Amino acid sequence: MNIIDLRSDTVTHPTPAMREAMARAEVGDDGYGEDPTVNRLQEMAAALLGKEAGLYVASGTMSNLVAVMTHCQRGHEVIVGHEAHMFHHEVAAHAGVAGAQIRTVMNDSRGRLDPADVELAIRPARANYPVTGLICLENTHNRCGGGVLTVQETAAVANVARRYGVPVHLDGARIFNAAVYLGVKAADLAKDATSATFCLSKGLSCPVGSVLCGSRDFIARARKNRQMVGGGMRQAGIIAAAGIVALETMIPRLAEDHANAQFLARGLARFPVFDIEPEAVQTNIVRIGIRGMKVEDLAAKLGAKGVKAGVFEGNKMRFVTHYGITAGDIEEALGRIGEVAGK
Ligand SMILES: *Cc1c(COP(=O)(O)O)cnc(C)c1O
Repeated sequence: MNIIDLRSDTVTHPTPAMREAMARAEVGDDGYGEDPTVNRLQEMAAALLGKEAGLYVASGTMSNLVAVMTHCQRGHEVIVGHEAHMFHHEVAAHAGVAGAQIRTVMNDSRGRLDPADVELAIRPARANYPVTGLICLENTHNRCGGGVLTVQETAAVANVARRYGVPVHLDGARIFNAAVYLGVKAADLAKDATSATFCLSKGLSCPVGSVLCGSRDFIARARKNRQMVGGGMRQAGIIAAAGIVALETMIPRLAEDHANAQFLARGLARFPVFDIEPEAVQTNIVRIGIRGMKVEDLAAKLGAKGVKAGVFEGNKMRFVTHYGITAGDIEEALGRIGEVAGK
């Protein structure tokens, strides 16, 4: 029985073209800025996000951490959504390493922030208040079921930030999923953000890495902070080469993952155990409440049938579609899920 792994798009393996590019990659010492493949990836990433410069980092977590370190001083406050990846899944690095305090504002079910709530959370100048150092947005929104922020929704929060002189960081781990869904350029979604990052290692299927993008000055300062957290690399062109292939060839195919997620969501809606609105699924993440059963038990039963799903608190389950998962795999998975959840 083949395993259909729908836990995350991080389980993707590099494509044959990536392996080839990695084997042939021209490399140098990136500590001296002399790895031509890393430099090319950084330039391509910056161009795609409409920023002056890019910085190749080991992970999305490192990218967000370096962004906070670069925008903020210790003791500054960072405003994020209450479901933000930065708040839940980054080991409190923003407090523990960057020395920043996180302040949350409610996300709606699609991961949006109400600009009025953000404005209220920005601290007035008062001797005993922290300084609001940064406002963060997430697009697509991981814990809010892959929800998409439009250009206008991004601008609405950024306009508030601008009025108060606070920078905006866009955690765009899956920004290209949002761009493909909306039919806009990733640069349009990033244009109101002071800095933006995306992951190469998720739907884009690379083995490693994220790129942080911003102004030339911001990236020069971010480079020092990346070094401080041990993220300076040497012949990183070996892995960056996969990123170039991803940016050249893997973005349009994300539409397939979205179609497969729709197909899956509609199929799951037939089973009462899944509390799901297929219309709410926008990209490649299907996050669902489980009724009448413990999510851990359901996941174990599905696992025994070779279907892997993610388990979250609040009795929620997550399925993520990705490169390597076909419509046929979804059909097969739905059949196996029906054997477990059918009645
Ligand atoms: C995955 C993810 C990250 C972190 O990326 P890693 O490479 O796993 O560290 C950050 N933000 C969001 C929204 C993510 O989905």
